[in-house]
Amino acid sequence: MSDFKSLNLNSLIFNAINKLGYSKPTPIQSEAIPHIIEGKDILGIAQTGTGKTAAFSLPLLNHLCVNKLRPAAKEPRALILAPTRELAYQITKSLRDYGSEMEYLSIATIYGGVSIKQQINQLVRGNEIVVATPGRLIDLIERGSISLGKIEVLILDEADQMMDMGFIHALKKIIPLIPKNRQTLFFSATMLPKIKKLAEQFLNNPVTVSVTPPNSTAKKVKQRITFVNKAEKQDLLSLCLLEPDVLRALVFTRTKHGADRVVKRLAQVGLTSLAIHGNKSQNQRQRALNAFREDKIKILVATDVAARGIDIEGISHVFNYEIPNVPEQYIHRIGRTARADKSGIAHAFVDKSERAYLKEIQKLLKNDIKVDELPEDFMQKARALKTRAPVELLQEVEKEGRKGRGKSRRKSISSGDKNKTEGPKSERDNNSNKYKKRDGKEGDQKARTDTDQKRKQWNKDKPRGERKFNKGKVRNFKKEDGATFKTDRKTTKKPTKRSPTKYGKSNTKFR
Ligand code: AMP
Repeated sequence: MSDFKSLNLNSLIFNAINKLGYSKPTPIQSEAIPHIIEGKDILGIAQTGTGKTAAFSLPLLNHLCVNKLRPAAKEPRALILAPTRELAYQITKSLRDYGSEMEYLSIATIYGGVSIKQQINQLVRGNEIVVATPGRLIDLIERGSISLGKIEVLILDEADQMMDMGFIHALKKIIPLIPKNRQTLFFSATMLPKIKKLAEQFLNNPVTVSVTPPNSTAKKVKQRITFVNKAEKQDLLSLCLLEPDVLRALVFTRTKHGADRVVKRLAQVGLTSLAIHGNKSQNQRQRALNAFREDKIKILVATDVAARGIDIEGISHVFNYEIPNVPEQYIHRIGRTARADKSGIAHAFVDKSERAYLKEIQKLLKNDIKVDELPEDFMQKARALKTRAPVELLQEVEKEGRKGRGKSRRKSISSGDKNKTEGPKSERDNNSNKYKKRDGKEGDQKARTDTDQKRKQWNKDKPRGERKFNKGKVRNFKKEDGATFKTDRKTTKKPTKRSPTKYGKSNTKFR
């Protein structure tokens, strides 16, 4: 099938993709769309960059156009599950583009790390489609803010990543809540036995569509590895990034702290970069991605989880500063380059401790990766790096900016900015609020007041000798025989200034 006309899509959708300049369907689209329109379940094996989002979005929107029905409050008609916030956001954006000509289309995007109230309000209005990450969706289900009883189409995107991120239990909770007569579209970049087993649980007699042989890497990516000592990786990275052919580079680390460390060290040799990882707030992540997309920075340092949804064109290089310990992750990482028919380079730095991981990757790829030796004058070049003028850390600038807005976080909390500290558990659980709890006084103050009240209540009901939570320690009251009473009294008097509630463990943690 060579053009969109032959896919028999509704004219509203056809017009929208024409406007976007899509002249012909990609292979996954021409393979999957006719089956989806027929109502079949799909097991799709496709990596990002193949056009898989449109492969499930176009027939879904087509279904909504053909079967017009206003959704009831909190009862969406289609659910798309994605592993990360970035991917959820990107899917929503694509759906809006493809559905831009539709008279009415309401999409709610649901993910953690941001206020839940807005999402609850959005669900009340009624949505045709909900795009969600599993954790926040469960939270909303438990609050009664969404019901999955009217779902007609369920789509799981990047199912392998969902498994890697431990969402299996969440999926097992969510999917039984969806009617069995739904249509299910299951997409994964890899089809390892564990993914296949998962798919079998959720799909009903599916058609398998695969656009790349399973576990193959994008052929256009030129891969290389350099064996290097751990201590030399940073210098090697800086030297590579200074090469003129590096237009836009994505650097992968295994840990969040590792990502921050790389950013700091790059700044020391005059290279500006930003990091995205799970410890950054959604806004920080989005700002960093925008800066990268808009060419304000040419280096983005990321962990796997945060980088999963990145669809940015023109990434010329992917550097695996640390190679992943899950071999399939290597495929996802290098797939960030060589998108949209462009070529790209994926360069991995491998130290002694990572050789076993490399073996696993090569086993999965079924071929060896070309080895690049360290340049002969590496030591000399690395020394020369030290003479380069450092640049200011962009993250530091952000923090400074916050100070300049008048109220510091601490002030805004203690001065009664209630929105920032109140709210349901899941809101308090997000990164920014953890930060507030640690920094702000209100959390400490509240904990102290609660404990004081408990202590008073408990003591009221007890004879003197049995009083717990006295200024002494709880351990005194574990000894209940009269012989130890004297010693207990001594200890109850001693630590008058440093009562456990005021200066105890938890307080030290907050400081
Ligand atoms: P995806 O694999 O869904 O992440 O899509 C990768 C990129 O391909 C996105 O930027 C889409 O806008 C683009 N794309 C999807 N389908 C087509 C098409 N038929 N023609 C041209 N570009 C497309």
